[in-house]
Amino acid sequence: MSSGHLTIDLGALAANWKALAQLSAGETAAVVKADAYGLGSGRVARALAEAGARRFFVAVAEEGAAVREAIGKGPMIGILSGHMEGDTALIRDHDLVPMLNSVDQMLRQIEALPNRPFGIQLDTGMSRLGLEPGEWAAVRDLAMTRNPVLLMSHLACADEPEHPMNPHQLQNFRDMTEGLDVPRSLSATGGILLGPDYHFDLTRPGIGLYGGQPFAESRSVVRLDIPVIQLRTIAPGETVGYGNIWTAARPSRIATIAAGYADGLPRALGGKLRLYHGAIPCPAVGRVSMDLITVDVTDLPEDPAYLTMLGPHQGVDRLATAAGTIGYEILTSLGRRYSRAYV
Ligand SMILES: *Cc1c(COP(=O)(O)O)cnc(C)c1O
Repeated sequence: MSSGHLTIDLGALAANWKALAQLSAGETAAVVKADAYGLGSGRVARALAEAGARRFFVAVAEEGAAVREAIGKGPMIGILSGHMEGDTALIRDHDLVPMLNSVDQMLRQIEALPNRPFGIQLDTGMSRLGLEPGEWAAVRDLAMTRNPVLLMSHLACADEPEHPMNPHQLQNFRDMTEGLDVPRSLSATGGILLGPDYHFDLTRPGIGLYGGQPFAESRSVVRLDIPVIQLRTIAPGETVGYGNIWTAARPSRIATIAAGYADGLPRALGGKLRLYHGAIPCPAVGRVSMDLITVDVTDLPEDPAYLTMLGPHQGVDRLATAAGTIGYEILTSLGRRYSRAYV
């Protein structure tokens, strides 16, 4: 018995990619870092390659090697962390394309893999990864003699369309890349929604593929059903769970389900979490334990065998809001104890 059943809708995933590709002015890649935001990078990348994606991005070279195994030769797999020390063999053997982030990385690439493709990541204001304007000015001519395949940058505030950081970074990106005959990429999901000025030659959506905000039109990709281990009826005045924080006000039917904070359901959800039986919401009561959650199912017409954590009535963003976090964190924390089915 697993602690829950994850169902991943590859049709909805492909539809989300196609919808974002439709919105994008140029080509559309797919970001499958962190095991495709927790959903399984091999299956996800294969489905997206079938849908037409020809470029993928991962965070580190090991992830790139796994995606290459899954999708075979052909599509580009870009490494956002660039060419890190010790990664040369992985990059070469799996035909990965590092997005070089620093002068050190550029020298490492030119020395170790002089004739292999690479891209360059530019820091247009986020101060996280990439060459800053001064560094770029110093190495641009050298870099251009080596024919980079992509110039990219990343937006810090793209999920806030009115934020002045967006046009500021757009201008910086233009200033750093104008006149160079190299394909350019600036936007992830949020940037796609900012409009065509932000699209350039290639967009790089991640979260929107997986059904998360800010792509409001995205189709839901993940369903999570948790089995009920035990049901009991308690009397008014009886308490539930650690710390006695919930007391029954009426005769109550309590279901104990087989998932907890060790399965990526934050303890901070305590008191704010609802599960669903069909369309009927059932409040979780008491604390979230490591492997267990207790749910008040008194108002259900029948005893449930499962309760739905993620599904048509509660998506990753609803759950994230209840936990005080974002959909990205809920997805990438999905438990390893869940069984996974791809439909
Ligand atoms: C994670 C990431 C993306 C994808 O971002 P989403 O907001 O999930 O669409 C794109 N580009 C870079 C550099 C990233 O780190």
